[in-house]
Amino acid sequence: MTQRVRVRFAPSPTGEPHVGNVRSALFNWLYARHTGGVFILRIEDTDQQREVEGATEAIIESLRWLGLEWDEGPGVGGPYGPYIQSQRLHHYQQAAERLVQQGSAYRCYCSTERLQSMREEQQRRHQPPGYDRRCRDLTPEAEREHQRQGVVPVVRFKTPLEGETVCHDFVRGEVRFENRLLDDFVLLKSDGFPTYHLANVVDDHHMEISHVMRADEWLSSTPRHLLLYRTLGYEPPIFVHLPIILGPDRSKLSKRHGATSALAYRDTGYLPDAMANYLALLGWALDDSTEIFARDELVRHFSLERIGQSPAVFNGEKLLWMNGVYLRQLPLEALADQLAPFIAPTIGQESLTPEGRAYLLRVLPLVQERIKTLAEGPELVSYFFVDGLSYETSDLLPKGVTREATANALMVALERLRRAATFDAIALEGVLRPLAEELGVKTGQLFGALRVATTGRTAAPPLFQTMEVLGRERCLARVERAIALLG
Ligand code: GLU
Repeated sequence: MTQRVRVRFAPSPTGEPHVGNVRSALFNWLYARHTGGVFILRIEDTDQQREVEGATEAIIESLRWLGLEWDEGPGVGGPYGPYIQSQRLHHYQQAAERLVQQGSAYRCYCSTERLQSMREEQQRRHQPPGYDRRCRDLTPEAEREHQRQGVVPVVRFKTPLEGETVCHDFVRGEVRFENRLLDDFVLLKSDGFPTYHLANVVDDHHMEISHVMRADEWLSSTPRHLLLYRTLGYEPPIFVHLPIILGPDRSKLSKRHGATSALAYRDTGYLPDAMANYLALLGWALDDSTEIFARDELVRHFSLERIGQSPAVFNGEKLLWMNGVYLRQLPLEALADQLAPFIAPTIGQESLTPEGRAYLLRVLPLVQERIKTLAEGPELVSYFFVDGLSYETSDLLPKGVTREATANALMVALERLRRAATFDAIALEGVLRPLAEELGVKTGQLFGALRVATTGRTAAPPLFQTMEVLGRERCLARVERAIALLG
């Protein structure tokens, strides 16, 4: 290919970007990075009624979080800007005017009421919806009359009444659409704003987009776009429609399937690299087995040829597993950085002091094996920091051991812990293992009581390592408190 790859992510700011949106962004970004091309962000905000406040910011935040930086677009600029469609209205108005002059489009003066009753009529007769083309061949006099009455028209495309439009999609191959089913769609609304179809085509042309990579749901718009390319005399880009994303029940992925907003994943403690890795596999695969791809590996291996046609199934469990894989691979310092905002509210400022940070770095090896999201951080580390553990006194009692015997065992253990020469895992094991035998209880029973006393939990990382990290002072105080609870 001689032409440089220029791809774009062109979201409409109608809400927080969801998994499907960011998957499109990622594929475009990967292709640009793989080919040394250009990745463009363009905000398609021409449907002012559907615009949601803060949505553009959410798009930008999502892309930044995922590390999908753009080479041209809002905040970055570029030679084809502005990259926000509401700031480019004259381009669309000029194109619409040119099509009208050329006889490929026409002004339509039909009132909303008329269009509404036409639609109802069509529904009643079970006819396909679509404009009945009343204004397609207005005489100049009739047009002047409408204008005299001050009716503000829309501009509609004069879709060919017969023939076919053939789309050559990179993924789907040849897809044919009958023109007579396409209707005379609106190009320019009466407020001077373009519709998606017109703005999308005009911009993809002006911005010299080489490949349009987008979700499958836009395939049905492609014949309209191709007709526009042809009548405007533009060379169409290569179309690459990405397979639909389904939920585990194989219906279209939606809120019903749980969190689908990209930022919700950030806020519940997913790592951007894990998320990108998982999203890359929604419609693309290198082979039948490789699942874990570091970012640079994705960039290296990504290709359009390996985008599949069959629906991708979004599996939250798999994503969770993958996030765990990434969390376990993080160097401790990086894990501590990532966890800091999640655990600070629970453990307070302690984690931010140099001593607290050093302590956290000793705690993390014990929990890194278990953690699957950063949001689990507070639950996993809180008992290392927060005193006054809350547990039921009955949790202290091993099965088949009385309250007195438990209290007694803990008292003896307390003494030994106080006297232990060193307080590391090996030394602790050397002190506590023989003690069980000496007291005539099972090791599991003694260790169980100590685990609850020192951590407040019945399940925790290995006991001796945990006690070593907690340190003698904390352990002694906690065992004393447990003895007091037992009375
Ligand atoms: N604005 C459309 C969207 O919200 C863009 C579709 C396309 O990429 O052409 O997804």
